[in-house]
Amino acid sequence: MKKLVVATGNPGKLKEIQEYLTNLAIELHLKPDSLEIDETGTTFVENARLKASQVANALGEWAIADDSGLEVEALDGAPGIYSARYARSDRERIDRLLDELGNNTNRQARFICAIALARPDGAIVASVEGICPGEILYTPCGTGGFGYDPIFYVPQEKQTFAQMKPEVKHKISHRGKAFEKLIPQLRELGIGDW
Ligand code: IMP
Repeated sequence: MKKLVVATGNPGKLKEIQEYLTNLAIELHLKPDSLEIDETGTTFVENARLKASQVANALGEWAIADDSGLEVEALDGAPGIYSARYARSDRERIDRLLDELGNNTNRQARFICAIALARPDGAIVASVEGICPGEILYTPCGTGGFGYDPIFYVPQEKQTFAQMKPEVKHKISHRGKAFEKLIPQLRELGIGDW
């Protein structure tokens, strides 16, 4: 069983990553709260790599990190890497986004998720990105999920992320696509083999 430290202090995120890696012999651990990590990159990939590398290096353990967010075309890619920091609560983040978009008819947007895996010496050995294209609605719709889910409509499914069954979202989401790319790389590295 391979031990991997997840570069987050958030148990919710650990649980979510666990759900994507259920078929692998991997034991996930939270990083210690005392270990502060910088998120100074300018892209999702840079941030994921930075986080994985810093945690691995500091603890001398294998580490995995993800970084994700929403890019809205008419807002020049905002909120992007600042998605989590765009406002104080999910409700306020959605309100701010809808406010800034106003009646702009270009509603194109995409969720991005980058994941990086670092060796105990901090070297990055795998780095993947998943993208899910969609559109921003004029008003929220649906009660499931989290974050920007109620305003993110996926035309292919004719639903918002907040209306989808979790198993559907898991399959088509940016995070789902990133893990789909990561898993074969983990297997190639011999990580998670029974
Ligand atoms: P992270 O935890 O630093 O990667 O921040 C990601 C932020 O992007 C979250 O706090 C959400 O606001 C947003 N986000 C990322 N993925 C999703 C998703 O699947 N649905 C809704 N919001 C998301």
